Amino acid sequence: MIYSHLILHFGELSTKGLNKGYFIGELVRSINRMLKKKYPSLRATSDHAHAYIALKEEISLSALLSSLEDIPGIQRITPVCQSERDLDSLKKNALLLMKEEKFSTFKVHVRRPDHTFPISGYEIARTLGGAVLANIPSISVDVNHPECTLEVEIRSDAAYLSCHSYPGAGGYPSGCAGRSLMLLSGGIDSPVASYLLFRRGLRLDFLHFAAPPYTSSAVIDKLADLLHTLSAYQEKILLHVVPFTNLQLSIYEHTDEPYCITLMRRMMLRIASIYAEEKHIPSLATGESVGQVASQTVESMRAINAVTSMPILRPLVAMDKLEIMKVAKKIGTYDISIRPYEDCCTIFKPKKPKTKPKEKECLFYESRWDYNLQIEEAVEQIKSYQLQEDGTLLLLEKENKQ
Ligand code: ATP
Ligand code: MG
Repeated sequence: MIYSHLILHFGELSTKGLNKGYFIGELVRSINRMLKKKYPSLRATSDHAHAYIALKEEISLSALLSSLEDIPGIQRITPVCQSERDLDSLKKNALLLMKEEKFSTFKVHVRRPDHTFPISGYEIARTLGGAVLANIPSISVDVNHPECTLEVEIRSDAAYLSCHSYPGAGGYPSGCAGRSLMLLSGGIDSPVASYLLFRRGLRLDFLHFAAPPYTSSAVIDKLADLLHTLSAYQEKILLHVVPFTNLQLSIYEHTDEPYCITLMRRMMLRIASIYAEEKHIPSLATGESVGQVASQTVESMRAINAVTSMPILRPLVAMDKLEIMKVAKKIGTYDISIRPYEDCCTIFKPKKPKTKPKEKECLFYESRWDYNLQIEEAVEQIKSYQLQEDGTLLLLEKENKQ
């Protein structure tokens, strides 16, 4: 391989004046977590400007790049070739790099962070440009709109040459954008929503509503598989499972069918809000997308949101199902999500759910029984699990719950 290193650029981190040292530390940690899993022979290091990975011959660059492209906080990735600083070595490496490229116009851009270097930037550019022109047929120099730019950086330890950058995920390093409690079903959408929030730098806890015996314990295995896949993006994963059967049965006893889903969602959000407060998590998140199903109209969202003052993050809100499915396939959750399972929503699904529910009507149905007691009980009986390295879920004892 021509390339010796990857240089990872921080992007937003460097412009927002945030606590940069802390962010860089978190970013390097999450890069190294991925490397440890997939490329144990590689390690990332950093200085105040960039992170670096020294490459090894046997590594597939394209596979490594695609793993890095998912890590939040990386703006750009540039493969570079390390060179001795003398003109002959620079020429040799410039030709090696440029011969791999397809272009008809190019320019050479030289930076000299080591100002003491005796040869001027102009002289280096002229020499390397001349060598490229003499050795690659049918090309010309275009300093304004080149198809390919050979970047040369002369540092005190060595010179670095590159001619390609790849976009990273952007955003903030894992956990640096705050926390959210993600309502995770077993469907296609909520894992994709989780991935998008991870990419933004959110740290997520997961909350699932189960309705045994109507929903089977196989759902938990499915959730474990989904979370195992998502664990590529977050170090420690906690799943909290709410026993929801009693509340659901009461909803169906006291509510006219078209309002059942709205009331169910309101109860879910009440429970999620109480639990998030308990855990000092300042926001909730869902896989809702506007207009996707009856319970996801804006009127419905209004009636549902009314029970909580917490912000609800809905990263899929403007995506259509095909786009969502594409992302699910890319991140590897799709095949798990489509495994048949009984969600509490599917079991109790009314034939004709209300598409424009009114809050007044919701309050009317909810006045028919004391749901607060059931909410308290449900919160009290939440079981928490921690995802293990092997992808299984370990039940946490109450006092160890975190
Ligand atoms: P998904 O594919 O994520 O299941 P969906 O298209 O099936 O979404 P709904 O069933 O209407 O849509 O659910 C909307 C959102 O509500 C889900 O994305 C999820 O965030 C939350 N949700 C639904 N059911 C549950 C559940 N049993 N436990 C936790 N959250 C749930
Ligand atoms: Mg669902």
